[in-house]
Amino acid sequence: MSKRVGIYIHVPFCLRKCHYCDFCSFVGVGEDVRRAYATALCDELRAYRPYAAGYEVDTVYFGGGTPSLLAAEDMARVLGAIREVFSVREDAEITAEVNPKTADRELLSRWRELGICRLSIGVQSFDDGELSALGRLHTAREAEELFSLARKTGFENVTIDLMYAIPTQTRESFRRTLRRAIALRPDHISAYGLKIEEGTPFAERVEELHLPDGDAEADLYMDCVRILGEAGYRHYEISNYALPGRESRHNLRYWQMGEYIGIGVAAHSYFDGRRYGHSRDLAAYLSCPKPTLDTQEKQTEEEREYETVMLALRTADGIDERVFRAAFGYGFREKYAARLAPLAEAGLVLYEGEHTRLSDGAMYVCLAVLGHLLDGE
Ligand code: SF4
Repeated sequence: MSKRVGIYIHVPFCLRKCHYCDFCSFVGVGEDVRRAYATALCDELRAYRPYAAGYEVDTVYFGGGTPSLLAAEDMARVLGAIREVFSVREDAEITAEVNPKTADRELLSRWRELGICRLSIGVQSFDDGELSALGRLHTAREAEELFSLARKTGFENVTIDLMYAIPTQTRESFRRTLRRAIALRPDHISAYGLKIEEGTPFAERVEELHLPDGDAEADLYMDCVRILGEAGYRHYEISNYALPGRESRHNLRYWQMGEYIGIGVAAHSYFDGRRYGHSRDLAAYLSCPKPTLDTQEKQTEEEREYETVMLALRTADGIDERVFRAAFGYGFREKYAARLAPLAEAGLVLYEGEHTRLSDGAMYVCLAVLGHLLDGE
C-alpha cells in the first residue's frame, strides 16, 4: 500500500509587511522574480522524482506570504509539477491562503478550475481599528466580501484566521469578531494569540502597545473556546476549531507526525525520517532550489518519541495508547506514569478511554505542561 505524504508550498511575497509578522515574506518583488520563483518551485518538485514512488499525495497547502500574489498560470505550473512527479489522490485536500486585498472573482474561479478546494482567508479581526493597528491592508468589510465571493465561486471548504491579544482589542471587541465570524459560518476557524516576535515593528515599540497581560489573554482564549464551542466548532487543536469533519487534514498531519515535503524558501519538511529545510535566503533558493534532505541524519527513536508526545498533546485527541504502543513498543501512560500523576490530579491531563489529552485550560499553557512532562521542569 502507498504511503501518504503532504506537500507544503511557500509563497514568500506580500504587498506590505504587517507590523507583527515574522514569516518569511518579501515586499516589492517584481513579476519577473515571482515567475522565476515559480520555476524554482517546479525544479525543486522535480528533484523529488527519485523519492516519489510508493507515495500518494493527499494534501497540498499553499502558504505564505501571500499565495494570491502568484499569477494563476504560475500556480497552474506548480500544481502541474506536483501532479507530474507524484500521484495525487482524487480527494486530495488542496488549500491556498488568500489575503482579502489580493484576490478577485477571476483568481478564485481560476483556482477552483485548478483543483484548489479549500480556501484559507487571513481575516485576523472584524474590527477596522484593530486591523489598522496590526498593519493589515484590508477592512473587515473586504474580508466578508471575499468570504461570500469564495462561496459564490464554489469553495465549499473555507477557513478563516483570527487573532486575539491585539493592541486596542477588548474582550467585547473580540467577542464581536467571533460573532461576525460565526455569522459567516466558515467550515473552520484558526485563532492565534498575538506573539511579539523579535525584529518586527511591534517588537520595537512593545511598550506603547498596551498589550493584555497574561490573565486577560487567557480570558480571551477561554472566551474563544466557549463561544466557538457553543456555535458547533470543535476545539481540536490549541488554536484550531472545526465544524464536524472539517478539521484541516494538512495541519493534522503536522501534529500526528505524518510525512510532508516543504517546497520553497524557508519551507521545512519531515520526510524519510528526517527533518530538514531551506534558509530564508531568497537569492540562494532561486540559484539552487534543491531539496536538502541529504544534509540531515535520520531521527533517533528518542527524538521521534519526544516529538510525538509534544505534537499529539496539542490536539484534542491527544495520545492514543494503541497508536503509541504500536509505534514504540511500550505504553505512553506506563512510561510517563510518575510525571502524569500530578498533572492528572490537577485536572490538566485527562484520561478518556485509550486517549490521554490536555484539558482546554492546559492546552493554553501547553508548553509549561509539556516541559514538566518531557523534561521534568
Ligand atoms: S500578509 Fe501574512 S505573511 Fe504577509 S506580512 Fe502580513 S502576516 Fe505576514
